[in-house]
Amino acid sequence: MDTPKQSSTVPAGLAGPILARVGIVCLLLAACAKQAPKVRDVVLITLDTVRADALGCYGAPGDPTPHLDRLASSGVRFEWAYSTSALTPVSHASILTGLAGDRHGLQIMAGSGGFRLGEDIPTLATQLGKAGLACGAVHSAFPVAAHFGFERGFSVFESFDPTRAGTNPGDVMQLQRRSDETTRKCLEFLASHPEPSFLWVHYWDPHDALLLPPPEALPEDLPRNKQGRLVPSPQLYAAEMRYLDRQVGRLLAGLEGMQRLDQALIVVVADHGEGLGDHGWWHHRTLYQEQMRVPLIVRAPGAKSRTVQAAVSTLDLAPTVLDWLNLAPGGRLDGVSLRPWMEGGRGQTRAVFAEQHNGYDHNAGEIREQRPQDDHLYAVIDDGFKLLYRPHMPQASELFDLRADPLEKNNLFPAQRQQFVRLARILAGRGAWLTAPPEAQPAGSSAASASVSAALAALGYTGGAGDAAQASWRWVYTCPEHDQERWPKPTPCARCNGAPLLTSEPSR
Ligand SMILES: [Zn+2]
Ligand SMILES: [Zn+2]
Repeated sequence: MDTPKQSSTVPAGLAGPILARVGIVCLLLAACAKQAPKVRDVVLITLDTVRADALGCYGAPGDPTPHLDRLASSGVRFEWAYSTSALTPVSHASILTGLAGDRHGLQIMAGSGGFRLGEDIPTLATQLGKAGLACGAVHSAFPVAAHFGFERGFSVFESFDPTRAGTNPGDVMQLQRRSDETTRKCLEFLASHPEPSFLWVHYWDPHDALLLPPPEALPEDLPRNKQGRLVPSPQLYAAEMRYLDRQVGRLLAGLEGMQRLDQALIVVVADHGEGLGDHGWWHHRTLYQEQMRVPLIVRAPGAKSRTVQAAVSTLDLAPTVLDWLNLAPGGRLDGVSLRPWMEGGRGQTRAVFAEQHNGYDHNAGEIREQRPQDDHLYAVIDDGFKLLYRPHMPQASELFDLRADPLEKNNLFPAQRQQFVRLARILAGRGAWLTAPPEAQPAGSSAASASVSAALAALGYTGGAGDAAQASWRWVYTCPEHDQERWPKPTPCARCNGAPLLTSEPSR
C-alpha cells in the first residue's frame, strides 16, 4: 500500500478521506475560478428607438456618444445584435423574459381589450427579486407601463398610467419624460437603495420630435416646417442621441460616485431602431436592418473587453444576466447565455429571428395604410443572409446578402432560390406562426381601453385600422422547396418531410 509522502503524521485510516476532501476542495476551487467575480448591482438600460449605427462605437460619425463608447470599450460590444420586433412593448417583453413573442404573450401593442405579458411568466425582475435584489424601474414613456404587465417584480415602478385620475391621455407630455429627469429619478432610486439592486432604466428621447432636448443642446440649423417647428430628421435624431448619451454618462458617473460601478453588471440595449427615411419609411414597425439591428453592450466584473462578431438576439439578455449571477432560469428560455463570449471564448452561433404583426394591431393605422406589405413580417438571419418573409404576400418577400449589401438595397428574391429555400426552411422549422389576432386579455374597463388608445395615438401610434381584413385571402401552409403544395393546417411535406411554411391563397 502506498504511503502518502508528505502526510506521515496522518493516521493511515484518515489519509483517504482527507485526500478525497483535498480533492473536493480543489474541485471547488476550480469551480470558483470559473465563476465570475461577484456582481453587486444589475443595471439594464434600454434605449428606445436607437439604431446601432447611431452610436460612435458602431460607426456613427462625429463622436456623438462618447459615454456609451467608453462603456463599450471597457466591456463586451456585440457588433450584430438583433431585436425580436420593432415595437416597444413586444421587444421589451423579450428582453425581460428571454422568450419570443409566441411564448411571452405580448405579440402586439393594442387590440380589443389590450395585451399583457403573461402573469405567470418569470421576468428578470421576478428572478432577481427572488435572489434578494431590490428591483426598481424608471421609465420614460407609456409603452412599457404597467398596462402591458411590466410592473411585476418591481418594488419601485416609476412609469405612466393614462387612466390615472388627473391624467389627460391626449396630452403626450404627460406620457413621457426626458432623459435628464429619468436619470435624476434613477440616481434617487440608487441613493435610497444602498443594498444590491436591479435597476431597469428606459430612455425615450430619440423616439420622436415631441419632447426635445433643452435648446442649448440643439444645433441651430435643424430642419423645421413652415410654422418653424422642428420636424423629424436624421439631424434631430442625432442631436437627441447626443443628449441621451450625456444622461447615460451622468448615470454611470452617479454609480461611480456611490462606488457601485465596478461591481455592476451593466447592459445597454435598444428595443429597436428607426427608419429615418431608409427604405422609404421614417418610423419603426418594419424589420430592415436600421430597425432590427440594435446596439448591445455588456460590462461586468470579470468580463473581457472585446467585440463579438457573431449574430446574437436580445432574447439572449435575460439568460446571460441570470447565468452571470449563477442563477437558474425559471423555465426553458428561447435565448441562450452570452457568458462564453463575455469570458473571451466562443458562444453558440445560431439563426436569429424577428417578427412584426402590424396587421393585427389596432394602433398601426399609418403603416397599414402606407405599407400593407408589412402587415405580417417574419425575419430570419443566418450565415450572413437575411430573409424578410411576407406570408400574406409571399412574392413581396426580400432576401439580402448582408455581407455584400449591409444596407439591404439589392433584393435577391426570387433570383437566389437555393438561399431562399435554406432560410425559409429555418423559418419553417421554428414555426410559431401567428394566424389570428392574439386573444385579448382583460385590461380594465372600456373607458380605460379608450384612455390607452388615446395615449397611444398621442404618442404617434395612430389607430383606426382594426384587425386585418382577410376577406380576399386565407392562411394556408406550403413547403419552402415544393411550393406548389398547399395544406390548410401545418403539415410536414409528404415529399421531403420538411416543416410547413405559412403562406396565403385567394379565399375564393
Ligand atoms: Zn420602442
Ligand atoms: Zn417539401
